[in-house]
Order: sequence, then structure tokens, then C-alpha cells
Amino acid sequence: MDYTLIQRAAKDILNSKKTIAFTGAGISVESGIPDFRSAGGLWEKFDPEEYAHIYAFHSNPEKVWMMLKDMFSLIMEAKPNPAHIGLAELERMGYLSSVITQNVDGLHQAAGNHHVIEFHGTHRTLSCLKCSTTIDGTSLKMEDLPPRCSRCSSLLKPDVVFFGEPIPWEAQVSSLKESKSCTAVLVIGTSAVVYPAASIPVTAKERGATIIEINMEPTPLTNVISDYLILGSAGEIIPAIVEEVKRQR
Ligand SMILES: [Zn+2]
Repeated sequence: MDYTLIQRAAKDILNSKKTIAFTGAGISVESGIPDFRSAGGLWEKFDPEEYAHIYAFHSNPEKVWMMLKDMFSLIMEAKPNPAHIGLAELERMGYLSSVITQNVDGLHQAAGNHHVIEFHGTHRTLSCLKCSTTIDGTSLKMEDLPPRCSRCSSLLKPDVVFFGEPIPWEAQVSSLKESKSCTAVLVIGTSAVVYPAASIPVTAKERGATIIEINMEPTPLTNVISDYLILGSAGEIIPAIVEEVKRQR
């Protein structure tokens, strides 16, 4: 971990009028939720192209629910890691305005962040594909899959965004607003190459925001959009930045 860059990030946060975080799967890997590239994880068992596409859900819901069952049990057991907890602390101290996340695991809220924009939806609720009735995901009985709507008995789908589905409109509008109005962005655990998510750091950069990237390896953002990259695990880097903010303020 490069301490000079930790100091720089803390300074940038302290000088920024409005800082947001933009997070991806990488931040939750340390909580035991694998990303698409993790070896031996969920996505090695289930090819995301085959299981996480909305067409697959419609054509073979039983099969897709086998993947969802595994994913849900991972999420249910997962706890926020020091990176999530550090971001919640930054919010409490008044240095973080919002978190825009591509994750559906709810770990930012569990850590204590209040303003979380869920770009790819959430696992906490399910909606009926026919009558739009919504149910609480925690009431789901895993032995009775695929779940059906109690009102019209059509299929229920978790409110997570599948490949081939649009981003929830509200999340798009509020994240665009945040990316236009912020003066610094912490990009954490994401390569942000897929649009429209990718437009968040790009829009912020165009308006003069400082882009602080925290990733395990360089990404297409590095040296193009990011002002600098702090290489390493978010679970170590975020708490170090929080400590440095406390020291410098
Ligand atoms: Zn229904």
C-alpha cells in the first residue's frame, strides 16, 4: 500500500466539497461474495452469460433459480468488511455524500451508509412479472422454487438487474445527478467499463472532479479517467484513508 497516495486521497477528500463513492463487485469479494472473475466461486459453477441473462430467466426459471439460491445464501451470510465500514464512517464524519453501487448485496446499508443508490437493483425484494406485486425477499422459502406470486401465481423475479434488462430509472437519474454535482469520486472495486455504469466516473471527470481509483489491478479507467490508482485491497486501503482523514482534518 502506497502511503503517499493514501495521504493524497485523504487530502483530496478533505478539500472536496462533495465526495461520492462508486463501488463494484471488488468491494464485496472480501465479504465472501465472488465477482465474475473469482476462481472457484459461484460464477465458475454458473456461467453468468447463461444464468444471469433475463432470457434465461424467462425460458428456464427453475434453472436460473438454482443459481439465485446459491447467490442468495452467500449474500445472507455475508457481513460488511472494513471497506464498507470505512465508507460508512466517512459518511458519518460528513465526508461522503452518497454511495452508488453496482452490487445487489445490501452491504453498504448494513455497514451504516444512508444514501445508497443501487444501480443494479437489490436482492431484498422480489416482484411479480405479471401484476408487479412486490414481496420481501427474506420471506422467501428456498425449498419451494421458483417462487410464485400469491395474487396471480405468475413467476416472481428478484429485483436485481439481469443482463438484458434496463437500469432502474430512479437509480439512473439520481446517480447522474450525483456524478454531475460531486467534486471527488472514490472508484472502488470496479473496472467500470460497462455502460451506463461507466458513465458515472466519466461524467464526474468531465466536470472537473478528482477520480481516486482503488483496485487490485489497473483497469481501463487507470491513466485515462482516474487521477491516480491506489493498488491493493479495499479492505486495507479504505480504513487507511479514513485514519488519514482523521489525522489531517
Ligand atoms: Zn402477480
